[in-house]
This record gives sequence, C-alpha cells and structure tokens, in this order.
Amino acid sequence: MCCGNQREVNIFCPLDCQYLREARLHEKPPAIDPKGLPNSDIRIYEQFLRDHEELVLFCTFTLADAALRTPGVVDSDVLAALAALVRTYRTSESGLVYETRAEDRVAAAVQELFERSLADFQKTRQEKEGLSSFRNAEVLGVLVFLERSAITNQNGRPKGRAYIDFVRERLNISQEADTRTALVT
Ligand SMILES: [Zn+2]
Repeated sequence: MCCGNQREVNIFCPLDCQYLREARLHEKPPAIDPKGLPNSDIRIYEQFLRDHEELVLFCTFTLADAALRTPGVVDSDVLAALAALVRTYRTSESGLVYETRAEDRVAAAVQELFERSLADFQKTRQEKEGLSSFRNAEVLGVLVFLERSAITNQNGRPKGRAYIDFVRERLNISQEADTRTALVT
C-alpha cells in the first residue's frame, strides 16, 4: 500500500492510486473566509466569466497541464505560480513591465510553461484567426478567478494535489503527463 494517513502529507502517491481516489470522495475542502482571499480588491463577475469562456478554459487547462508536466508539483506550487503571475499582470496594468518570478523552482517551472503556452495562444489567435490579443486586464481577471478556484478546491495538505486533480477530472486531461511526473519522483 502506497499511502494511508501520510497520504499527501509525506507521501506523494500517484493520482490514479485507488486509496487516493477513494479518499477524494470523502474529502472536504478547508473552510475559507472570502475576505481572506488574496487580490480581493479585484471583483470577478459572472458576466466576465461568461464573456471570457474561451480564455478561462484555456488558462484552466494550461495551468493544470503545466502542473502535470512538472515533476514533484503540488497544489501549493500551482498557487505560488498563480500568485507570481497575478503580480506580474498587476504590475503591467500599472504601466510597468516587471516580471515577478515564483521563488520556488517547481512553481517557477509551472509559471514558465504557462506563460509560454499563453504567449503561443495569443499569437495563434492573432496570426491565424485575425483576432486581437486578450488584454492584460482580461488575463489578470482570469488569473484571479483561477487563484480563487485553486484556493477553494485544494485540501490544505502539504503535498495535496486536490486542485490539480479536480481540474484534471473536470477537463478530462489524460494521465500520460502524470505518469511522467511519477517516474521522476
Ligand atoms: Zn496511494
């Protein structure tokens, strides 16, 4: 048996582990105080999410995919990557170009993969579809939405991957990427 009480505390067990799958069914997300959420000055309206469905979906998928491709990643790395991305976009909104890089190596790797995919996505939209790029403010709104979604769907365990798992299941992302992760760790 690969896990037990230490599951997602000290033990990094594969996402398809049957004990982990079973535990997910009974898992309750930690209580969150909405006022304690980061970037609470940015309000995200339902209408904004509906109008930006394509961007929301792209960013949600790409972030989870970046996480699954990064060896040793856990939800807190995804949150650190998101925090750095949000800070970068907030800075650019104020007219400065200054990139915040996540300090942690794993989080920085997720951030980098995400940024590269987003740049490609923007470029393809422009060049092949003749659409304008999403503005920084639009990307920022989506990132803040994702940050809240990650906070409310994590399980708070040190090596927890409940959020990554949640997105993977919702969007039906293949296990292939996670197999690579498991081989390295
Ligand atoms: Zn396990």
